[in-house]
Amino acid sequence: MIHKRYRRNGTPDLRRWIFECDCCHRRHTIGNINGWLIPDHPRPGMRIYCPPCVQSIAALIITYAVPNA
Ligand SMILES: [Zn+2]
Repeated sequence: MIHKRYRRNGTPDLRRWIFECDCCHRRHTIGNINGWLIPDHPRPGMRIYCPPCVQSIAALIITYAVPNA
């Protein structure tokens, strides 16, 4: 999930947003989210994932899609 922070005037303060992986709950700020799986237009409740979890989830999907791989 994304922990959003706002300035006193109500505008989003992106540099203080915390990105928390919905799988392992690792946390990063916006300056350190290369490789994270984050939707272009995040909605409330939408899940985000850090790179190690993206890889394990991708491996799981491939296992389902190609059972004998
Ligand atoms: Zn993770």
